[in-house]
Amino acid sequence: MPNILTINKLKNAKRVVILTGAGISAESGVPTFRGEDGLWRNYNPHELATPEAFERDPRLVWEWYNWRREIIHPLEPNKGHRFIAELERNTSCFTLITQNVDGLHQKGGSKNCVELHGNIWRVRCVKEGRVFGLLDLPLKDIPPLCGCGSILRPDVVWFGESLDPEVMSKAYNAVRDCDFMMVIGTSAVVQPAGSLPLIAKENGAYVVEINIEKTPISGIVDESLIGKAGEILGKLYHEIQGH
Ligand code: NAD
Repeated sequence: MPNILTINKLKNAKRVVILTGAGISAESGVPTFRGEDGLWRNYNPHELATPEAFERDPRLVWEWYNWRREIIHPLEPNKGHRFIAELERNTSCFTLITQNVDGLHQKGGSKNCVELHGNIWRVRCVKEGRVFGLLDLPLKDIPPLCGCGSILRPDVVWFGESLDPEVMSKAYNAVRDCDFMMVIGTSAVVQPAGSLPLIAKENGAYVVEINIEKTPISGIVDESLIGKAGEILGKLYHEIQGH
């Protein structure tokens, strides 16, 4: 249960930032990479979500993405996604930053979402760099091809790749400027996302973490709430509504 200070800080916050990771979507049924259910044909995601894997075997990588897209497609946003969308509607200065690629925040009503790692429903032409949505399920061709004949890749950031500087600068500006930050369902070990809560803290924000276990940032945040994101955010919603 969030403490009274956290509830009051959120109620009075003027500039709110939420950072989410795979844990927010876990209660919707999206496997995290760290859980056993994140495995596909005994492959470790860290061996598939890399530029080297794609260069070596684009078909294999696309079969894995096709599998993930098929898992994600029927899933619904949970209480956590919906709480965040509601908070956005009621806060004048609000930024949602996510490491997730599943699109569930948008499905849950979030309007502005800074997607650090891209989106699994978009593709990018490896030759022309053109980015567009591709919703086919299952994919008609694996690997899918662009109109120009080149291969398409998922528009996501793989391990070992840099994040889009424009996207990163939006995230940095928001955390530097916020007075309340909530970090939800992220192990806080993947950089640079892991450093964002520290920047918020250094700039005087009140920082709250929600995770099912302690993480490297648990010791520095103002409150670390241990439990499922959807459940805790549901309670927090109840509290800030004043019930
Ligand atoms: P991660 O490093 O962000 O770890 C997931 C975190 O969520 C862990 O700390 C875990 O303790 C916590 N968690 C699990 N269930 C939770 C719950 N119900 N409530 C609160 N916290 C919970 O993510 P990862 O799975 O190691 O993936 C690394 C990267 O891979 C991500 O940053 C993302 O780009 C990509 N990924 C995305 C998705 C998605 O879009 N849903 C899923 C898996 C991986």
